[in-house]
Amino acid sequence: MNSFVSSPIALEVMPEKPILLTRPYLPPLEEFLPYLAEIWESGRLTNGGPFHQQFEEQLRQYLGVPYVSLFANGTLALMTALQSLRVTGEVITTPYTFAATTHALLWNGIKPVFVDIRADTCNLDEDLVEAAITPRTTAILPVHCYGNPCASQRLQQIADTYGLKLIYDAAHAFGVSVGGQSLLDHGDLAMLSFHATKVFNTFEGGAIICHDLKLKQRIDYLKNFGFADEVTVVAPGINGKMNEFQAALGLLQLKHVAQAIAARLHIDQRYRQALAQVAGVHCLTISDGVKPNAGYFPLIIGPEYALSRDQLYEVFRSKDIHVRRYFFPLISNLPMYRGIASAAPANLPVATSIANRVLCLPIFPGLDSGTVDRIIEIIRAPV
Ligand SMILES: *Cc1c(COP(=O)(O)O)cnc(C)c1O
Repeated sequence: MNSFVSSPIALEVMPEKPILLTRPYLPPLEEFLPYLAEIWESGRLTNGGPFHQQFEEQLRQYLGVPYVSLFANGTLALMTALQSLRVTGEVITTPYTFAATTHALLWNGIKPVFVDIRADTCNLDEDLVEAAITPRTTAILPVHCYGNPCASQRLQQIADTYGLKLIYDAAHAFGVSVGGQSLLDHGDLAMLSFHATKVFNTFEGGAIICHDLKLKQRIDYLKNFGFADEVTVVAPGINGKMNEFQAALGLLQLKHVAQAIAARLHIDQRYRQALAQVAGVHCLTISDGVKPNAGYFPLIIGPEYALSRDQLYEVFRSKDIHVRRYFFPLISNLPMYRGIASAAPANLPVATSIANRVLCLPIFPGLDSGTVDRIIEIIRAPV
């Protein structure tokens, strides 16, 4: 690629670079350099250094939540969240998610029990949860898919009635609130991801949000090998610590994230308005009282549309626009899960149907309006 760039002739014939589903948001480099200089000067690279402490506190305030524990990535946060509540046996979860949700269960020796989703939110269908509870069930693990809030009140009621833990995979829910309350306040614990592709990124990163200081302490032991002090190891912990580079970037990203979400919402609005008129193309609605983050823009392709989902996907691909079939295939269809009884497609008709019809459009700060118009035009007249 670099050899092309060095030749002006080759440059002229180079195809337009592909339009990706998402492009990580990065603040101006010069704003990050002073943070780097401080790390180099102090020699504090990790193990809960000054940036880690500052970021944990500022993130807590930004999100309006009681306790935050930072992690190297979201998957380690989720694995640790399950450990911290001693979740075992069976956990009820959704098949319509990223592989990490259920992989975290398997890494803890827990059996996922798949329950179907609702078509309007793509979230775990709360009305089907009770029927899936067995004597081995210890927790429910829902996902706020695309940042759409789960039916948290009902899920909490079920968890309380049956004595189950409620742990949210909130990897998509940064900055989302409902009725003025952060989604991260729901359940016993919520996990966040700051992966490059997410609304808020620290290259890689993650966090657990909880409501109880003792539980936060336990989580903090678990993410640091179980060390309570120099000579006391209280649990077989893991190394899940966020380093100073990530934490410094997180501090800087906090100054930009409101603006980045505003830019996403602007694109979300353009898509919504333009696509409302296209028959057979359905956008998920944002419920009343929800402050969204526009992390994703999923379209559900119906039978009235001129093309199938996969045909439309190919049209975009041929134009070097990387739309994604997200989430497809369903997690329950992956080889390590499909032997589980609840993974049968007949048990998951809504998730199966949506996975076969969903297409996520590019959305990220910096996606120019000309490209947004081009994407809309392709959907209107896909030839
Ligand atoms: C991104 C993501 C994760 C994993 O987070 P990482 O930070 O990439 O480890 C888990 N669950 C969902 C739903 C995700 O989208």
